[in-house]
Amino acid sequence: MRISVIGCGYLGAVHAACMAKLGHEVVGIDIDERKISDLSAARAPFFEPGLEDLLREVQETERLSFSTDMAEALGSTVHFICVGTPQKQGENAADLTYVDAAITGLIPHLSPGDLVVGKSTVPVGTAARLSTMIKEAEPEAHLMWNPEFLREGHAVSDTLRPDRLVYGVADGSEEHDAVRVLDHVYTVPLEAGTPRLVTDLPTAELVKTAANSFLATKISFINAMAELCDAAGADVTLLADAIGLDDRIGRKFLNAGIGFGGGCLPKDIRAFMARAGELGADQALTFLREVDAINMRRRTRVVELTRDLCGGSLLGQRITVLGAAFKPESDDVRDSPALSIAAQLQLQGAVVTVTDPEALKNAARRFPELHYEASTGKALQRADALLLLTEWQEYRDLDPYEVASIVASPKILDGRNILDASKWRAAGWTYRGLGRP
Ligand code: NAD
Repeated sequence: MRISVIGCGYLGAVHAACMAKLGHEVVGIDIDERKISDLSAARAPFFEPGLEDLLREVQETERLSFSTDMAEALGSTVHFICVGTPQKQGENAADLTYVDAAITGLIPHLSPGDLVVGKSTVPVGTAARLSTMIKEAEPEAHLMWNPEFLREGHAVSDTLRPDRLVYGVADGSEEHDAVRVLDHVYTVPLEAGTPRLVTDLPTAELVKTAANSFLATKISFINAMAELCDAAGADVTLLADAIGLDDRIGRKFLNAGIGFGGGCLPKDIRAFMARAGELGADQALTFLREVDAINMRRRTRVVELTRDLCGGSLLGQRITVLGAAFKPESDDVRDSPALSIAAQLQLQGAVVTVTDPEALKNAARRFPELHYEASTGKALQRADALLLLTEWQEYRDLDPYEVASIVASPKILDGRNILDASKWRAAGWTYRGLGRP
């Protein structure tokens, strides 16, 4: 099948490569010339495990090409829309400029029978509006919404072997022709047993925002429990283990720490609240405001704890921040809690050094005022306090005895509650976790 993928960022580049791996002939289209030139040379424009190998593998088959020219979409029967839907400047709502531009740019190149498949995360109601735009220009073309659930850091395997496929179609019917076309695209995962659900358009859009809201709520729930554990002298990690054994609750996504960030969860819950307001259903989502507030409070809490750890003042304290990416196995620093904490500490007079195995280039673009050091060993030198803020394996594996001999003062704040507190204390460290005595 000939497929175009419009928007080649974290979602689209992986989707394009994976569709080619599944046997399709794919053209990836983006307006960013640098990205397209990297991808054309089989270089991943961002860090995602396995992506570069996959790009090399599929480009040898000549089934994958990239272009900045939307006209290249002509001749594809399926067009995936994978452009960004960031938060609007100064508002909670999603900025749909890029989605609208992608559809407007694609329309002149659509042929009768083509299928446009939205993958970007959009406010409910967007698909119906875009469907009307497409039908007015090409009545024989169809629009579906097929939300994406991949996790950065696992994007390749999540795309090749998704845990579910959701197809939103105009009439919500299994019998819709578009369902068969998309089944053909996803033959391999479907034959491997991936569950597929056919819904109407608004349900498909809502599945994605509801899923992200649930995940955000779970994280903020355990972080609220961490606040209580701090107040009561209890241990939130043991609390999570104990409640997580109830399979109605489950242990996943119950790790208290510095909270969630990235290019999805924060902006998606805000856009969801904004859209609920437009629909007159804002009361249904007022709890998300609290979820957001708990999450943002984590960052302030870490700054306060660091001040405590440094004896009451941050002025002139050399703080080393381990991790800049919003999560490990990614170089994505969009709304990264680690970087936001690093910047706040610096503003309050600390001398901050940030290190990360992959995300330093992106971090330096966002926060040029911070000092960055690529070598972990050098970053640790003469630190008055360490903050572990992104749980890369390299930082989990640090040897407390060895690190103690490098830093100026053995004090550590474990922002992800992943270190063995007793081991670090036995090595002479002042160890602080979040929600742990
Ligand atoms: P991104 O910013 O990494 O990529 C978006 C890409 O779209 C950019 O490369 C940009 O240049 C390109 N673009 C913008 N306008 C264009 C146009 N008119 N024509 C062609 N290309 C255009 O964003 P992302 O993280 O890949 O997210 C894309 C969408 O997928 C968002 O809606 C996001 O919420 C959703 N999503 C992302 C993830 C994730 O983990 N990143 C997971 C699931 C869903």
